[in-house]
Amino acid sequence: MSDNPQAIKSICIVGGGTAGWMAASALAHEFKRLPIAITLVESEEIGTVGVGEATLPHIRNFNTALNIDEVTFMKATEATFKLGIEFCNWGRIGDRYIHPFGDYGEKIDGIPFYQHWLRLQKSGLASRLDDYAFPTSIAEANRFRHPSTDATRIESTYGYAYQFDATRYAAFLRQFAEARGVVRRQGKVVDTRLDAETGHVASLTLDSGEVVAADLYVDCSGFRGLLIEQALKTGYEDWSQWLPCNRALAVPCESRGTLTPYTRATALEAGWQWRIPLQHRTGNGYVYCSSFISDEDASRRLLGNLDAPALADPRQLYFTTGRRKKLWNHNVVAIGLAAGFLEPLESTSIHLIQEGISELLHIFPDKRFLQSDIDEYNRRMGVNFERVRDFLLLHYAATQRDDTEMWRHFRNLKLPDSLDEKIQIWLTRGQLIRYEFGVFLPPSWVAVMLGQNLLPRHYDPRVDRMPHDRLVQSAEGLRRRVNAAASATPDHKDYIRQMGAASDTGPLVAQAG
Ligand SMILES: Cc1cc2nc3c(=O)[nH]c(=O)nc-3n(C[C@H](O)[C@H](O)[C@H](O)COP(=O)(O)OP(=O)(O)OC[C@H]3O[C@@H](n4cnc5c(N)ncnc54)[C@H](O)[C@@H]3O)c2cc1C
Repeated sequence: MSDNPQAIKSICIVGGGTAGWMAASALAHEFKRLPIAITLVESEEIGTVGVGEATLPHIRNFNTALNIDEVTFMKATEATFKLGIEFCNWGRIGDRYIHPFGDYGEKIDGIPFYQHWLRLQKSGLASRLDDYAFPTSIAEANRFRHPSTDATRIESTYGYAYQFDATRYAAFLRQFAEARGVVRRQGKVVDTRLDAETGHVASLTLDSGEVVAADLYVDCSGFRGLLIEQALKTGYEDWSQWLPCNRALAVPCESRGTLTPYTRATALEAGWQWRIPLQHRTGNGYVYCSSFISDEDASRRLLGNLDAPALADPRQLYFTTGRRKKLWNHNVVAIGLAAGFLEPLESTSIHLIQEGISELLHIFPDKRFLQSDIDEYNRRMGVNFERVRDFLLLHYAATQRDDTEMWRHFRNLKLPDSLDEKIQIWLTRGQLIRYEFGVFLPPSWVAVMLGQNLLPRHYDPRVDRMPHDRLVQSAEGLRRRVNAAASATPDHKDYIRQMGAASDTGPLVAQAG
């Protein structure tokens, strides 16, 4: 029992998509044995957005915190491993690079390897930077193994995420949350009553006439933002001047050939196409800007680019990139698409859900809903969204492409000051500003900057401390070690089978027999 008479006693989560069930699972887990009732309301009639298959390595922390077993989770969600994202045609048509979840080689003389690579590259003696990165080398060879826990080994220099069926993940978490006391109400919220004095949400009415009331509401109702926007009129910060893509077509196709341990993002004339290989199917989609291509042409383009027959008709999704002006307003915290949406280029949405949940747990309120708590949450989450926005925009800004109207649009774009500053400092001598918040660490920025041909004019002067021929030798030794370790890494598909993570019905099991 809490000694605070103002302690929260009830939480209502609106929405049963990935955001709703992630929030329900985490809150139920954290508040176990406390007298806090958690209710989740979802409408089967409305359904969920039904996309969201690629993740970032942080999701492993989420699962681990809930004691979720990896093999059980992978089987249940048809998951594959993800070592990074392959970007095709972004810097120039024909270019490709991988943004790996890990480092480029190892530090030499206390300085990140990419700085030494810049020196070698200037003297014409470097191999591709990718050849020194273990995660990239195994990704390119369609291999996978769990990272080594021995920090002296090159096989320890990376992380990994998953590619999975997000609908199955939500169903998996529903079981988890219900087993821990979360009560699910099926029904459509048709009315929201606000408290006349405080302006807080007081209760919700479902289409059955049932009234649900709670102290704290978590709005996971998707793009519509049922509580945060429709009830509280919080307002939306529209970022489409920087990220103008506003539509997507999503279509699954059969899984064929090699099972790549990475997601692919191919730049097209009016946006980009994703390819996400799961165990039982491959997810595909075209994210585009309606000012530059019609829906019909986008659909034709998407279907023409599939590597196997489609399993359904393309599904259309509409969005405006940006975020709510306040992600927490009164007694409502918006998480997931209700909070905002940035296009899925770097698989950041599920990560932002995770951040939203963890910040909420960190600054968990009582019934007074102190403005200082609310402001701090909004500051932290606001910065998180902005950092992601800058990283996504970098992909469009650091390009030599000007072959279509969309790419020319980015040529003339005024960047946010935060991104402009980051690029200018990078161009001087390859330094990257490290921030208080932000999911992407320096190696991720290096991957995109160099992958899209943004070469710094100089490198870190401390690199010259090392005699040139010794550096050449060290770099060559590193390249050989990466190559040897990559050759000894198992095939991705075999590895999933051998660890027992192939789903019971999926093609990996069928092929194994
Ligand atoms: C094109 C596209 C591609 C994406 N790809 C990725 C990706 O690769 N990786 C990634 O991390 N993220 C991705 N995302 C984002 C990801 O899909 C979402 O972040 C995630 O699915 C969470 O969605 P949600 O739970 O917030 O909303 P939804 O899935 O829309 O769920 C909303 C819930 O609210 C309920 N609801 C709504 N109104 C009411 C009402 N009146 N009464 C009762 N219930 C109601 C609905 O029934 C539903 O249960 C992508 C998004 C899009 C649009």
